[in-house]
Amino acid sequence: ERDLVSPEADLDERAVEGALRPKSLDEFVGQERVREQLSLVLRSAQRRGKAPDHILMSGGPGLGKTTLAMIIAAELGSSLRITSGPAIERSGDLAAVLSTLHEGEVLFLDEIHRMARPAEEMLYVAMEDFRVDVVVGKGPGATAIPLDIAPFTLVGATTRAGMLPAPLRDRFGFVAHMDFYRPDELELILRRSAGLLGADLAPDAAVEIAGRSRGTPRIANRLLRRVRDYAEVRGDGRLTLETARAALSLYEVDDEGLDRLDRAVLTALLRRFRGGPVGLSTLAVSVGEEPETVEVVAEPFLVRSGFIARTPRGRVATAEAWAHMGLTPPPDAAF
Ligand code: ATP
Repeated sequence: ERDLVSPEADLDERAVEGALRPKSLDEFVGQERVREQLSLVLRSAQRRGKAPDHILMSGGPGLGKTTLAMIIAAELGSSLRITSGPAIERSGDLAAVLSTLHEGEVLFLDEIHRMARPAEEMLYVAMEDFRVDVVVGKGPGATAIPLDIAPFTLVGATTRAGMLPAPLRDRFGFVAHMDFYRPDELELILRRSAGLLGADLAPDAAVEIAGRSRGTPRIANRLLRRVRDYAEVRGDGRLTLETARAALSLYEVDDEGLDRLDRAVLTALLRRFRGGPVGLSTLAVSVGEEPETVEVVAEPFLVRSGFIARTPRGRVATAEAWAHMGLTPPPDAAF
């Protein structure tokens, strides 16, 4: 159930998502600044007849980084190779990818911050000089044999650009910061997806689903699929406002996009601890979860939406949290 509002996707979901991916910059909804900047970078590179500068994308999961990487390759009329930081355990893994790239190809390196250190150094050289130094032999007899590789464009993705070592960050010509999407943007994404799925989505239902999607296209598309299921099985197939509300309440996603765990955490914080401050482990125990689950799974969105504040003395509920849960704060509430 938790998966319903998680920004991450498993392999099955990624397969379903493929059909909903925009194929060009024009089709890509939102992120106006990033789109405009990218379009300039790509067009000027095409004018010069050269591979564009390496591009770094930062932003949370489900915001469209993979989609943009595919679009970049498509706009350049080139192909995309995909790998990820965790898949590169040794520098040899990276050398194998780099040495088989074709000229002008785009290499998408997801979770680039999780790449092994020695590979990182190999990547610096590859990005700057289009060369890899392959080390042959061991010990004092080891020699580095320089190997030219085809000029390529690296598209790196990371959840936080600040986590990258400076020498790596500096080798990107352009950093695209992906933000959470506005409700009106999510609405557009939902209408587009509904069209592709052949679903009859009423405009007010699109607004309703958009508002519960946590600013994340992946979650919006997922909620849309659940509402469609509901409409097909319990209704006449049309995705109306009533169907959307009924489906999302069945799945326990409320009008702010909070799910059961989020609300359990808020309820405990408000009712048991009078709004805090309370320590994370105490709060976690009271909802029967591991502190890590509360911290990693529930808290980030609760903090981002302004329901919980982290203070040196512990977690504190905000006035919005009291209002959202329909409870009256005590006169001595901590916010
Ligand atoms: P992860 O880091 O988990 O791989 P991601 O940032 O790469 O996530 P994508 O896989 O690109 O996210 O996008 C997730 C889903 O959301 C896809 O189905 C994609 O089509 C859709 N999507 C993302 N951004 C947009 C957008 N701007 N317009 C329309 N659809 C989008």
